[in-house]
Amino acid sequence: MKFEDLKLSAKTLESVRNLGYEEPTEVQAKAIPKIIAGTNLIVRSQTGTGKTAAFGIGLIERIAAGTTTKALVLVPTRELALQVCDELRKLGLPHALNVRAAFGGQKLVYQIRDLQKSYDILVATPGRLVDLCNRGTVYLSKFNAVVLDEADHMLDIGFRKEVFGILDNLPPERLTLLFSATVDAEVKQIASRYIPNSELIEVGEMRTVSSIKEEKIEVPHAQKVSKLLETIQLHPGVKTLVFARTRKGVMRLKRKLEESNIPHVGMLHGDMEQPKRTRMIDRFKTDEIKVLVATNVAARGLHINDVELIINYDEAEDKLTHMHRAGRTGRMGAEGKVITFVSHDAPPLQQRGQQKNKEHRSYGSRHGGSGHTSHGPSGHGGSWHGPGSSGGSGQGSDGEGSGFGGSGHAGHGGRRQSQKHPKKVWQRGHRRQR
Ligand code: AMP
Repeated sequence: MKFEDLKLSAKTLESVRNLGYEEPTEVQAKAIPKIIAGTNLIVRSQTGTGKTAAFGIGLIERIAAGTTTKALVLVPTRELALQVCDELRKLGLPHALNVRAAFGGQKLVYQIRDLQKSYDILVATPGRLVDLCNRGTVYLSKFNAVVLDEADHMLDIGFRKEVFGILDNLPPERLTLLFSATVDAEVKQIASRYIPNSELIEVGEMRTVSSIKEEKIEVPHAQKVSKLLETIQLHPGVKTLVFARTRKGVMRLKRKLEESNIPHVGMLHGDMEQPKRTRMIDRFKTDEIKVLVATNVAARGLHINDVELIINYDEAEDKLTHMHRAGRTGRMGAEGKVITFVSHDAPPLQQRGQQKNKEHRSYGSRHGGSGHTSHGPSGHGGSWHGPGSSGGSGQGSDGEGSGFGGSGHAGHGGRRQSQKHPKKVWQRGHRRQR
């Protein structure tokens, strides 16, 4: 199939050409015509399948045709907000569309100034969006299309109340598109409550099994650092992402690699300020950094297309996280390799400071247990709403507290005001701030 077969406008065809996309991916071929036709969708697709351009092209075509006036894209993390915003800007360039981003960790005053200008698409993380709504900077009533990107991740890291509250306050007459790697009971609950008459699209992975080679290496706990050095030295000049469980672990490994004269080492974890994280990702993208040591903050959604080697220095906490880590390589059908260190003598997680590690909580482990293998960790059934609900765990990726009170509707105002009439509180919150 060609992009021309999707009956896109000449301007969108131009941007697709400029981006070097030769033909639509499966999710694009299936979803774009439905989005243009105004069908609500639940799309099961991984990152790496071209899902951003799928909803991006669909929305842009609708905005260009006037069927959508303003679109909101909700994403779980700052990194994803930046990436999605970047891709939508490129896609919307020939149409002169304005795409803006709002996410925690960036100075609120700049975002408020930015959002006072006009825009067609807003890409936002839920916590920051709630904050901006309560300050009267963003009015949800103006959006008639919403995308929930990586909905499963958004729920996993504790944004359930924010997402529900945002959906409650959007106009009922709207297009709703939900993209998720997994369609579990919670995602289905959102669909039945907020996405009427939706169609389900299921997409196979872009990565073929053969394009990612997985290897498991048994290493005594005490020898993991030297094994890491050896593995990296065996792959000179190879773009490598090393996953460690904790921020401390990341910092320690980076130091060890540098002390051993491994060149071009960088690190990424949730304690780093956003501009630093963005710079680090850019340097990794442009090959200035060849070995990036990271926590699970890098496991999801990063558009780094040519990571050749993933080393799970610490095993992922569950199968889904493992899958997302592995998904950083072998993108768009390229070859990739995943090496996982398995240490049967590893001390229990608690002794390694596991319980105290905020980032670990934030990035979606539902299991404290260790001892699983890279291929067969136990399933991840059962829903997990984050410790003490949304505020705490959401902070890890959004840098924001929960904006909604107990009702799931009230917004920041909900904490300060009566929650008897949550919708009113939300609206009053807007007026109070104006
Ligand atoms: P995503 O699934 O949105 O994370 O996209 C993964 C990567 O695929 C991004 O870097 C996109 O720029 C790229 N991409 C999206 N659509 C296409 C396409 N039709 N052809 C080639 N690359 C694409």
